[in-house]
Amino acid sequence: MDFGSQKLQDCAKALKEIDFDLAYLALLTGEGIKPLSRWEKALDSGVLELLQQMGLLTKQIRRSVQTGKEITETIFSRLPGYIQLYQERFADTPIDKSPETQRLEGFLFGYPACCVDAYIRRPYAPNGLPQQDQKILFHWACTNCKITPLLLPAYKMLHDLLNSY
Ligand SMILES: [Zn+2]
Repeated sequence: MDFGSQKLQDCAKALKEIDFDLAYLALLTGEGIKPLSRWEKALDSGVLELLQQMGLLTKQIRRSVQTGKEITETIFSRLPGYIQLYQERFADTPIDKSPETQRLEGFLFGYPACCVDAYIRRPYAPNGLPQQDQKILFHWACTNCKITPLLLPAYKMLHDLLNSY
């Protein structure tokens, strides 16, 4: 992504006014730090347009919850294959938190596999990560993670950049 581009800044700013995390996910996904992101709501066409102007493909996915109620998720990615994979696996299926689902989601969302496996065994185990680092991530880092410290500079850069917009 060209962070100097006025168009990108305008889109990111407009998304940030709607929700900081949505704009942050758009930057992380646009940069390829996350292959795919999920927003657990439907988004209107204006918001989808902003994501698309940032170079992202978007798709609304219908899911059901245990009560039988239907919900709509929005996924976005630069990669058509990831959109397709998510759609084929999850469209019109009930939301579940099985280890298999968490592993596939982790893969699609760019979470280190070590962190996903540790989280499945024991969610939110103490990881020694400074709180200000953990809180800008979307995965819970595993104890003494070897991969999360490599990802953090990119997360920090995009988080700071968005704050500056
Ligand atoms: Zn890890």
